[in-house]
Amino acid sequence: MAVPETPQEKIQHLSKKLQQSIQSRKQLEDDYLRDSQRYSNFVNDLCLALSGVDTELDTLLHKLRGHLQQNASAAVLEPIMQKLSDAISQHTIRLQTQLKLTNESIRQALASIKPHDNNSRSKLQRVASEFEQPTMTVSHYLPLMNQLLALSYQQPAVKTETQVSQYQSQLLDLLSEVEFSGNAADTLRQMKVALQKPQTSETLLAITLKIMRLVFSNINDERKSAQHFLKQLNASLESVQSVLGKTINHSSDYADQRVHLNQKLKNGVSEISACVTDACELYDLKESVGKQLQTLSETLNQHLKLHDEERENFNSNTLEIKQQLRDTEAQVEYYKKELAKQQFRSLQDNLTKLPNRSAFEERLNLEFERWVKGETQLTIAVIDVDHFKNINDNFGHIAGDKTLQVIAGTLSKALKESGFVCRYGGEEFAIIFCSDDREAYQHIENARGKVATIPFKFKSEDIRITISAGIAKCQYNEDTPLAVFERADKALYDAKNSGRNKVMKAK
Ligand code: GH3
Ligand code: MG
Ligand code: MG
Repeated sequence: MAVPETPQEKIQHLSKKLQQSIQSRKQLEDDYLRDSQRYSNFVNDLCLALSGVDTELDTLLHKLRGHLQQNASAAVLEPIMQKLSDAISQHTIRLQTQLKLTNESIRQALASIKPHDNNSRSKLQRVASEFEQPTMTVSHYLPLMNQLLALSYQQPAVKTETQVSQYQSQLLDLLSEVEFSGNAADTLRQMKVALQKPQTSETLLAITLKIMRLVFSNINDERKSAQHFLKQLNASLESVQSVLGKTINHSSDYADQRVHLNQKLKNGVSEISACVTDACELYDLKESVGKQLQTLSETLNQHLKLHDEERENFNSNTLEIKQQLRDTEAQVEYYKKELAKQQFRSLQDNLTKLPNRSAFEERLNLEFERWVKGETQLTIAVIDVDHFKNINDNFGHIAGDKTLQVIAGTLSKALKESGFVCRYGGEEFAIIFCSDDREAYQHIENARGKVATIPFKFKSEDIRITISAGIAKCQYNEDTPLAVFERADKALYDAKNSGRNKVMKAK
């Protein structure tokens, strides 16, 4: 385009430039909107990734996502991020409260120990002192700790040999629900061996305390990684918030400057128009318009510079936010996997790798609800190994453990098509069938035959091991899972009393 000569051409040229500048501003605004939309989607994904860590956190996240879908501007996001951060702090506080409650239980246990038993007292005290920090995983261990505490309450009343041995086998059952790795696993194994031998009531209390200590120190390790995760998550959220804050401040600064520059441009153009209208001499006109043009061109340059700065600033802030969110997402992903692993572990029996008692109860409640609705039939079988104590006594605890693994494998193979096979505890197994008791009887009878023919060999001695089983089906209106289980257990008792190696249906 030719260089503008006359004042009119110059004004035309200027107004064109002004037009371009307005258009590039519009472009910038569109980009900003698009980027913040992308950012909002990202935050949305983060919310999804965080879901499942805590129920209340879930509810809040759900609400936040609703907000985000409607309006994703930075000004709306900032208070939302603040809320999210608060919710995480609240989650930590709740865990702390849970810990306090457990601490309280430990103090009660302390009070129940005889005053002169200083050794036990100081051991329990040490346990208590280890349990003072919050953790995400404590809730997984709390039921176990409470059971251990309940056992140690019983302990002062334990006097006779039968009571001692009952206490011992309860403790053993509890231990089958715990799984540790490394040194802790070795210690646990040693304690299981010790519990197979006769103990006095004093040594039993010492073992209980040792187990509690072991569980606590394991929690301690998990706690460290959970805390680290929470700290990092909070730090990321804080920095996202601060970047958002910066973006908002910058945006409003820029908006002020733009209004100011636009005003200056408008004034410039109208002053030039006035000069043209008022001018009598060409020389005067040239001089005053020249000055005005100078000012206008400076203002326009400032305008363009402002655009560049604004874009640069926005880009770097967006990058920073995205990086933070990516890091946070990776942490959340890692932590969720850890939680899932732990949840799986808590439903699996370590020795036999079968579902454990918690898994059995969970599944039974589920199938029972289906039975109530008339969607399925439901039968429970309880299996107990005959004279299992003899195996431990004659060939040792390790041989006993191996025997349980082999029997579990045989039961699982024979029954996995027809029922849900679990290790209920000790040398007892429980099976859930979604069929009637006649069909279940056939399956269990078949499994009993298979176990009876396993060729065990201990210390070059050929041994036959048998199992007994009781079966009961859901049939009465007032039935509960517990009532049906008790009928099956009673039938098992009858099978034992009528010579063992038998399957009996509840009457
Ligand atoms: P019955 O035919 O009446 O069932 O006799 P039993 O000897 O099987 O019955 P009892 O309940 O007296 O003994 C069960 C034994 O199982 C006692 C306990 O030491 C042992 N036991 C429980 N859990 C385990 C385990 O995980 N490993 C080993 N090796 N033994 C266990
Ligand atoms: Mg038994
Ligand atoms: Mg038995």
